[in-house]
Amino acid sequence: MSSQVLILYTGGTIGMVQTEQGLAPASGLEARIKQAMGASLADLPSFDVIELNPLIDSANITPNNWTELVSTLATHWQDYEGFIILHGTDTMAYTTSALSFMLGACDKNVLVTGSQIPLGMNRSDATSNLQAALSLACSHPITDVSLVFDGKLMRGNRVQKVSSGRFKAFTTPNDELLGEIAIDMQLHFDRMLKKSPTTDTLSMSEKALTFQEGAVAVLMLHPSQPISIYQSILNDDNCKAIVLMTYGAGNVPDKNTDFLDFLMQTSLRNKIVINLTQCMHGGVSQGAYAAGSVLSERKVLSGYDMTLEAAFCKLHFLLAQGNSYNDIQEKWDTNICNEFSA
Ligand code: ASP
Repeated sequence: MSSQVLILYTGGTIGMVQTEQGLAPASGLEARIKQAMGASLADLPSFDVIELNPLIDSANITPNNWTELVSTLATHWQDYEGFIILHGTDTMAYTTSALSFMLGACDKNVLVTGSQIPLGMNRSDATSNLQAALSLACSHPITDVSLVFDGKLMRGNRVQKVSSGRFKAFTTPNDELLGEIAIDMQLHFDRMLKKSPTTDTLSMSEKALTFQEGAVAVLMLHPSQPISIYQSILNDDNCKAIVLMTYGAGNVPDKNTDFLDFLMQTSLRNKIVINLTQCMHGGVSQGAYAAGSVLSERKVLSGYDMTLEAAFCKLHFLLAQGNSYNDIQEKWDTNICNEFSA
């Protein structure tokens, strides 16, 4: 092991450069980090950089990228003390959620970061985010796959991108911070994921699951849905699960017969449906209102206060593990890595 930390650059604004088409990822990031961070690197752990090929704007992320990331971590797991993934902010919350399910409680730190303005550009937040991630990468044990951004350490499966224009781009609407990185560094180890016998018996390469693309649909309720959307989901045999984005405490249009038929058909066709609220804060209390009580009768499962990103990735994770409709009905309520408030 020559360096202490391995940085995996996937793409994203942090390493982008201006092109004629707008910002685009560019290779050669290691040299740009050294140039932008200069003397501050002397106080930080040494690192190597691996760039994934191709580098992407994270709008192009697919579950295959999660497999590739965990395979790359597995290949280098013994060689470094800690790992940093540089990622675009747009789909960062999906990747941090997916990795948190795949990796479970980590015995080496896996921190994800990025930036709103590219490294080296005027007023960029890249340097401070990367400095914070490097400061944490191997100094203290952080068991959760975590996001380091704008002076905060956040549990990967509870984060959401809330701003495209502010440096405070992420929050954890229903979770406390794992740490704050200010003049002093304050880490909350008591909030971090405890080791679990189920995940810890797997080797790193076994954690690189293969996902089924297109297996999970997201259906956002709004007043007056085209019926064709229901039909296309029902007729797609590749689609095994649906995240249903409902109103308020988990309420649905219980007077809409097309919608009720759709729900009936999902259970007849063994498609899992998860009830998740469109509200950012708070969670689902399925059955608190009469307008939500039809859901349990149709085998719809509560998503509690999970983020969309976490629910989407949990479904992909359970499906990739080979779980059937009935298995997922049974396992859904298990809080695998603190993805919902107990
Ligand atoms: N479009 C960029 C990406 O997600 C945005 C960012 O990194 O902030 O790759």
